[in-house]
Amino acid sequence: MTLTVAFLGLGAMGYRMAAHLPAHFSTVYVWNRNFNKATQHADEFGTTAVSLQQAVQADIIFSCLPTSQQVDEILSQVTVKPGTVWVDCTSGVPESARLQARQLTQQNAYFLDAPVSGQTAGAENASLTFMVGGQHEAFQRALPAMQAMGTLIKHVGDSGSGFAVKAVNNMMLAIHLCAAAEGFTTLKAHGVNITEALDCINASSGKSGVTESVLPQRILNRSFPLTFALALLAKDTGIAVDLIREAHISAPVTVLTQSLIQAASDLAGPDHDFSAAVKMYESWSKITLE
Ligand code: NDP
Repeated sequence: MTLTVAFLGLGAMGYRMAAHLPAHFSTVYVWNRNFNKATQHADEFGTTAVSLQQAVQADIIFSCLPTSQQVDEILSQVTVKPGTVWVDCTSGVPESARLQARQLTQQNAYFLDAPVSGQTAGAENASLTFMVGGQHEAFQRALPAMQAMGTLIKHVGDSGSGFAVKAVNNMMLAIHLCAAAEGFTTLKAHGVNITEALDCINASSGKSGVTESVLPQRILNRSFPLTFALALLAKDTGIAVDLIREAHISAPVTVLTQSLIQAASDLAGPDHDFSAAVKMYESWSKITLE
């Protein structure tokens, strides 16, 4: 395709996502704050490591940064070409997306909030889900580039809608994580064989993505591989609580879960996988889930 594409932010997700673009686009710029990662990406995947100012001259710009705050910092430093579509894959704040879209409208360009799910494995094998908010015309223009990295790509509404879907999804993940930690420490306290119990629950109505994959693949084998930071999950649950407050809705489980995940993140410190949230329950009950 003749469109030029750029990717800003080569972290756990971005590094793997951007790797798929050269198979579909002849010019793929990459930029990262720690620039060594950009040059390494260029060597590994045939992308082109460039300055931030050059990267934002692309027709389609992807970003994948920790929070909307870092996206704001970058947006404030650059000017894009008219017609550019900026596709932000950060799990960000809905209100920020509305402001960012307005900011790019002033440059006759578009902003899509397009967070993803599927974890680093989905980024690696181009099977991510994109949940996209913003103008439909911009969505159509950026669709082929998103299809290079994902399999399910949905336009879910106006600016901010994509970020809202992602925040609610991750809140539900956090609730399932707390539910599994509470359920399985209770079973172990009663002397139940938790490996056999897990098989029963995964064939029953209490199962979730946490019981089917997180518990057996990250927690019970004590591997806790760092692919999605607990601090990022705490950020997402905070966004979900803000959405609930803005809507004046009662959601006590969400509010309680957010405080539990935030406490687990504060207790664990930086650089822990989200699955390590169960360690807070383990320290309370003196029971290890293994
Ligand atoms: P990482 O922490 O692995 O990567 C963060 C990236 O942002 C790095 O490229 C980092 O650059 C860059 N960055 C951080 N601060 C700044 C800054 N001030 N200015 C410029 N660049 C900056 O995060 P992930 O890739 O795990 O997550 C990215 C987003 O995707 C988050 O919003 C997360 O919630 C979401 N997400 C993550 C998933 C996962 O499984 N990991 C799954 C789905 C969504 P540098 O290398 O220089 O530090």
